[in-house]
Amino acid sequence: MSITDPNHLINKPMAVIGAGTLGRRIALMLATRGGEVRLYDPNETVLSEGVSFVEENIQSQVQKTNDGRVGKAVITSSMTEAVAGAWLIIEAVPESIELKRKVLHELDEISDSEAIIASNSSSFPSSQLIDKVSRPERVLSAHFYMPPRVTAVELMSCGKTSPNLIQKLIEVFPMFGLQPFHVREDSVGLIFNRVWAAIKRESLYVVAQGVSTPSEVDDIFKLVIGATQGPFRNMDEVGLDVVLAIEEHYAELRPGLPEEVRTLLKEYISKGWLGVKTGRGFYNDYQ
Ligand code: NAD
Repeated sequence: MSITDPNHLINKPMAVIGAGTLGRRIALMLATRGGEVRLYDPNETVLSEGVSFVEENIQSQVQKTNDGRVGKAVITSSMTEAVAGAWLIIEAVPESIELKRKVLHELDEISDSEAIIASNSSSFPSSQLIDKVSRPERVLSAHFYMPPRVTAVELMSCGKTSPNLIQKLIEVFPMFGLQPFHVREDSVGLIFNRVWAAIKRESLYVVAQGVSTPSEVDDIFKLVIGATQGPFRNMDEVGLDVVLAIEEHYAELRPGLPEEVRTLLKEYISKGWLGVKTGRGFYNDYQ
C-alpha cells in the first residue's frame, strides 16, 4: 500500500518525538486524517499537555482539512513504544546537534525499516545529523513553522534521501492541511528562515547605525509590505537571546556579516531586556 493511499494514513500510526511547542502542533496536524499519533517526551507534564493540546484543537482543525476526520494523540512511555509500526516519525527534540544525532541514530535502529524519519530542526540540516544512521535514504528534514496558524512545511533531503520519498510527502502533506515546499539544495535555515534572517539583520543594522528606530522601522515595514507586524515586534516575541543565537550561527558560517547587529542585541540582553518574556525588549509595553 502506498503512503498516499488514504487507508494507509488512517490504519498505520505516526510518531512525534518531543511534545513541546512544535511537537504537539505537528501531532495535531497529523491527527486530522483520523489516524493515531503517538507522542513521546521524557517530561511527563509536557507529554500530557501535548496530548491535551491535540484533544482541545482537533475538532476545529479537522473542519479545515479536506475530508478531515478526528484522529487521536496518545501518550507513550518510550521511543520504542512510540515508533512501533509507525510509517512516519518526526523528531522535535531540543535544538542540540548532539541530541539530534543521538535521537536519529536510535530511531533508525528501533523503527520499521520502511518508516520515514524526519527532523524538524531549524538550524541543523538533516545532512549533519545522519553520521550514525544506517538507512539515510528514508531520512529528511521536515521543517514545520507554527501549525495550525502557519501551515508551511519545508522538505529537504539529507543528501541521501530517496527522491521518490520527498515527492510522496509533497503529495501526502496537503491531506493533513499542510503546505509543503521543496528545499532543492542543502541549506542552513532552509528557505524562509534565511529570508527572514536577512530582514532581521538589516533592520538591526539600520538601528545600530542610528539610521532609524525600532518602532519606525516596524511602521515603515508594515506600510510598505502590508504586514501586520514589523521585525522588531517579532524579535521581541521570539526572544532576543534566541535571535542572537540564530544570528551567531549564521555569522559562524558566513564570515563578514556585520558585527554591529550582534553588538546591538547583546546591549539589550545585558540589560535583561529579552523581549516579551522579560516584559521589555525593543518595546517597553509588555507589562
Ligand atoms: P521545546 O523545548 O518546546 O520542545 C522540545 C521537547 O523535547 C521538550 O518537551 C523536551 O522535554 C523534549 N525532549 C528532550 N529530550 C528528548 C528526547 N531524548 N526524546 C524526546 N523528547 C525529548 O522545543 P521546540 O520549540 O518545540 O523545538 C523543537 C524543535 O523544533 C527544534 O529542533 C527547533 O529548531 C524546531 N522548531 C522550533 C520552532 C519554534 O518556533 N519553537 C519552529 C520551527 C522548528
